[in-house]
Amino acid sequence: MNTTFESFELDPAIVKAVTEAGFKEPSPIQEQAIPLVLQGDDIVAQAQTGTGKTAAFALPILSKIDPKTPGVQVLVITPTRELATQVSDEMYMLGRFKGFKTVTVYGGSSYQRQLKLIAGGASIVVATPGRMLDLLKNGRLPNFNPSVVVLDEADEMLDMGFLDDIKEIFTYLPSSRQTMLFSATMPEPIKHLAKKILKEPKFVSVTP
Ligand code: AMP
Repeated sequence: MNTTFESFELDPAIVKAVTEAGFKEPSPIQEQAIPLVLQGDDIVAQAQTGTGKTAAFALPILSKIDPKTPGVQVLVITPTRELATQVSDEMYMLGRFKGFKTVTVYGGSSYQRQLKLIAGGASIVVATPGRMLDLLKNGRLPNFNPSVVVLDEADEMLDMGFLDDIKEIFTYLPSSRQTMLFSATMPEPIKHLAKKILKEPKFVSVTP
């Protein structure tokens, strides 16, 4: 298939950013996921690192949201601070022509700084589970209503013992939302989690 980024209904500012990033054509996971995310579907995506999975959710999400809408609109949860930083950097890079503010939230760094950035108009929060739950539980994030939630590398989060934290985080999230779950493998507990947090999800997968 010779799909191009222009063939999706992406915001031109986002197409400009992918083009400048040097991405020539969508990867298979992007080809499958972008139209579904644009039309508002929940998705379960089986995809490894290196497949372009980050841009597969980032491009359609960044296209759909408006940086002028107040409050945090997107929450991405990742297993590690390294991945959180990578995802946040890629979302910043791909969204830069729309001017989004992105905050990375993880343990072992200042609460004050993270909270200040969120209160200062961040549209996107990329977080690790422990610190995210901590902020929510302690009431530090009033009016936290992201309309889009992404779990990235869900199987890693399971292996690292974060499944209960993830489930608890969802008790604080609005029930009306678009949810995406990305995972390299689909063990039983992840399938079970998917059933709990996703509504009529579409499945996409790529083999490495
Ligand atoms: P990921 O699987 O999200 O970790 O992405 C792996 C790497 O591929 C990242 O450095 C991306 O910036 C890059 N990438 C993502 N999509 C594309 C694409 N369509 N064409 C070229 N590079 C890409």
